[in-house]
Amino acid sequence: VDMESQRCPLLEVKKNIELKTPLVKGPSQLPLSRSRLKRGPNQMEDALEPAKKRTRGVGAATKINMSRSRVPPLTTVPQTQSHTAVQKVPKKTAPRCSTAITAVLKNQKPVPAVPAQKPGPTAVPPIAGVKKPSKRPAWDLKGQLCDLNAELKRCREKTQTLDQENQQLREQLKEAQQQAKDLGTERSTLEGELARVRTQAEQGQQQLGNLSARVLELEERLGTQEGLVQVLQKEQLELQEERSGLTTRLEEQERRLQASEAALSSSQAKVASLQQETATQAALLAERGDRLHGLEMERRRLHNQLQELKGNIRVFCRVRPVLEGESTPSPGFLLFPPGPGGPTDPPTRLSLARSDDRRATLSGAPAPTTRHHFSFDRVFPPGSRQDEVFEEISMLVQSALDGYPVCIFAYGQTGSGKTFTMEGGPGGDPQLEGLIPRALRHLFSVAQELNGQGWTYSFVASYVEIYNETVRDLLATGTRKGPGGECEIRRAGPGSEELTITNARYVPVSCEKEVETLLHLASQNRAVARTAQNERSSRSHSVFQLQISGEHAARGLQCIAPLNLVDLAGSERLDPGLALGPGERDRLRETQAINSSLSTLGLVIMALSNKESYVPYRNSKLTYLLQNSLGGSAKMLMFVNISPLEENVSESLNSLRFASK
Ligand code: ADP
Ligand code: MG
Repeated sequence: VDMESQRCPLLEVKKNIELKTPLVKGPSQLPLSRSRLKRGPNQMEDALEPAKKRTRGVGAATKINMSRSRVPPLTTVPQTQSHTAVQKVPKKTAPRCSTAITAVLKNQKPVPAVPAQKPGPTAVPPIAGVKKPSKRPAWDLKGQLCDLNAELKRCREKTQTLDQENQQLREQLKEAQQQAKDLGTERSTLEGELARVRTQAEQGQQQLGNLSARVLELEERLGTQEGLVQVLQKEQLELQEERSGLTTRLEEQERRLQASEAALSSSQAKVASLQQETATQAALLAERGDRLHGLEMERRRLHNQLQELKGNIRVFCRVRPVLEGESTPSPGFLLFPPGPGGPTDPPTRLSLARSDDRRATLSGAPAPTTRHHFSFDRVFPPGSRQDEVFEEISMLVQSALDGYPVCIFAYGQTGSGKTFTMEGGPGGDPQLEGLIPRALRHLFSVAQELNGQGWTYSFVASYVEIYNETVRDLLATGTRKGPGGECEIRRAGPGSEELTITNARYVPVSCEKEVETLLHLASQNRAVARTAQNERSSRSHSVFQLQISGEHAARGLQCIAPLNLVDLAGSERLDPGLALGPGERDRLRETQAINSSLSTLGLVIMALSNKESYVPYRNSKLTYLLQNSLGGSAKMLMFVNISPLEENVSESLNSLRFASK
């Protein structure tokens, strides 16, 4: 469409040019027509024919020129007639008039009238009164002169008229030339326009070329696009399918969402009511917490009261069973009389029979036996299990958690079952587990329970042995095991009550597994020492210390207390009758050291129970180390381990006496 619209003006311009061409050529025909004027008079009518069709003055001028050139200088046309004719003929018909005059001059008779023309000199019938001048006789010179004068006068008039006409024609020519000039200007304008139009046409052509190329390109692209459109349509179809699928799913999801929203709003309502309930319960819980705390404090108070009523210093007696390969003691050697409440009461008494051999030798009669009666806080006969024993002391473990220092000792001769009681039997049998693992398990579980009431507990363990008044770390590892690893008991700081053992490891523990590892390490360290010195373990005190720290951050409460579990050195004395060799001298010194520390312990306990002002803690390393766990509100429990064998009766009696004291 664009091309068409561009073409149209171009075509129109061309048409215009064609149309204007005759006009442009017009002026150039002027000389031609002038040349035509030189043709014969017969040709004039033909030449005049196209001129007749025109209304322009150019044609008229041509005719006038013609008539002028044809008119002979002198004619014999009668003056009146010709004069009338000239005067009567209008300007436009003047050429025809001149022709008529010529014809009249030639033929001397009127030219037949032309029907289409207005009455001219030829059509006008000759005036009745005027006769054609006839040839004057040769003699009538005057007449001839008169005629000639008339003729001259007529000619002069004619000339004058012709001059006027000429003047008019000149003006017309001028006008025509002006027109020609205008037309020339117009032509140049048009030529300029033509050139411009041609340039435009060329540009158009170029544009056309460009456009065709573009059209081709576009067609190509169109083809590609059509292919693309097909692909896209296919995709659209697929997408529409997918969309419908998705719409279905969306609807389903919306349905589910609505259901969920309904559920949610009901849940929210529930949550709101639950939150209210929770708030109520939280208030109640806080109140209960307060009450619980009050009760817990009350329990602690009562528990401590109970323990104090039971005695801050308690003594339990445990008799180990007769082991395989040992001779069974005679019946009645050891008796466990029931308590005042009958056999259901836990036993607290024990009696031991001893025959006086010396008296028997003197009299020869059978040796009399003496029964020794002892009463303790509790007596465990040989059949007692580890858990039964522990049950009795679990109360003390609770006291340790409540912030009271606790000390548990195992006293007795070597082989009476001290280590069995403290650490447990051989083979890792859980039934045979001793007090230390049981106490720690109990501590951890009670601490866990108290955690629910806002208490946080932490435990730090240490394990040392005191041999010959020297302290050695049983938890030492690596280089500290060597001779340089000797430990000293020192105050934690200047003015501090707290004691600490230099060079000893203090290991934080939080589970049984860790405690197990420590006990294993201690037994390994003891085994190494045993190879160096025979049966050293029974000649030294093993002190397992556990520092218990409890904190109730919310109430700003704190309780710190040590739990001590001491496996004392064998309490047996050296037989005074034995001869002392060089090796035995060391042994004697060792024994004296043990006896000294054990008797110091007895003295300290006695001083404490008698509430004496002076307590000789400093007399032994053991009492020095344990001074903060003895006395005051501290709870102390002494296990006296007894061998069931008759051969050990002397040592058993010693132990029982010590324990009673
Ligand atoms: P101590 O440490 O006082 O020297 P032990 O604890 O080593 O004595 O005991 C000596 C032996 O007696 C060990 O073999 C131990 O297993 C055993 N024994 C001690 N007490 C009991 C008991 N209550 N039940 C069974 N065996 C025991
Ligand atoms: Mg032992």
